[in-house]
Amino acid sequence: MAIPERPEVLAYVALGANLGDARASVRAAMQDVAALPHTQLVASSSLYRTAPFEATGPDFINAVVAVSTRLNAPELLLNLQHLENGAGRERAYRNAPRTLDLDILLYGEASICSPTLQVPHPRMWQRAFVLVPLAEIAPNQVNAAQLAEVVAQLIERIDLA
Ligand code: AMP
Repeated sequence: MAIPERPEVLAYVALGANLGDARASVRAAMQDVAALPHTQLVASSSLYRTAPFEATGPDFINAVVAVSTRLNAPELLLNLQHLENGAGRERAYRNAPRTLDLDILLYGEASICSPTLQVPHPRMWQRAFVLVPLAEIAPNQVNAAQLAEVVAQLIERIDLA
């Protein structure tokens, strides 16, 4: 059912996993995000393999999707956390290995700073695993100087979009 009084907002969501079949987890999560209520997939990046960054465990699989959604930002976050929990994520400790991590990078032009949600995501500009897939699907959102800042971080495109 549509939420007619709400505008559609273009949001970017980062996906990451480094436990179990991480590639399958990220692929499934891309479909799950696309299937959220009042939400349509606009674009999805290739899959990337990245070395753990401020984290431990095996390499990560990462991707970014763009969605057009009528969910507001807190609702989108709750839906993403529901998907994370459904993927069996355990928050053993900060930056622990995870079966699935979903972050809101951008929500339209919004600037949000609440106790539970900061948008744009405050750490996105330090992370190649976010900026490289984001630049693939939204080159206007990332500039060359920002990409140059993260060029030393190992990242490999493994599955083309
Ligand atoms: P993490 O363990 O890195 O997934 O962080 C999860 C926590 O970050 C949750 O408690 C969220 O409330 C909070 N958070 C703040 N900003 C964001 C965002 N833009 N996207 C996802 N989670 C966020």
